[in-house]
Amino acid sequence: MTRVRKLYELQLVDTQIARLEAALAALDDGTAMRAQVEQARTAEETARAELQARQSRLRDLELELQSTVGKANKVEQDLYSGRISNPKELRAMQEDVEALGRQRQRIEDEMLGLMEEVERQLEQIRALEAARQARERELDEHLEEYTTRQRALTAELEAARRQRDALAAEVDPDFLRRYERLRSRKDGVAVTAVNGSVCNACHMTVPEAVLNAARERDEIRTCEDCGRILYVPVE
Ligand SMILES: [Zn+2]
Repeated sequence: MTRVRKLYELQLVDTQIARLEAALAALDDGTAMRAQVEQARTAEETARAELQARQSRLRDLELELQSTVGKANKVEQDLYSGRISNPKELRAMQEDVEALGRQRQRIEDEMLGLMEEVERQLEQIRALEAARQARERELDEHLEEYTTRQRALTAELEAARRQRDALAAEVDPDFLRRYERLRSRKDGVAVTAVNGSVCNACHMTVPEAVLNAARERDEIRTCEDCGRILYVPVE
């Protein structure tokens, strides 16, 4: 293998390494999806907390209702027992019964409203739960895919880097220095193949004299337009 050919092989591996590094960096680690799962969890928890507050209010009202009904029954019993004959006292008791009746109505109305809300909320929670589970499944599947892809790319990258080290050790040290300098200035591409008589990197025609020199001598020749090292494949 000629020295320029070795340099070209090195370029191919370096290009592959750059591609693998970009692919790894572009992998979606699921951050956005994780945020969506969090959002879904929060929405569900909020709804459950609201439900609990309403259910606890319902239990309080239930006790209040029992106590109100108990009080009303007691006053009614006294009222109709015949033991009390004072009209003023009787009127006061009658008023008590009516007030307790109105209180009972208020409690029952509030309970009815709450029960409807609880019903609606239970339905909403079922929907939120299903949405949260779907998001969690999506995230799990994505992370599985992500991990598989990341492992594969990392393995490929490690292999390419080992190959790179082995190749670089075989390249002429002067060539390697020029190559590295050029690569950092030329977007990672220091060596380019010539296709026919056209530079593969900038697509300009390489003069015949340069082509011949590159073909015949194992020396560094550069493209006059883009400045990259030319590799002329042997047919
Ligand atoms: Zn060029």
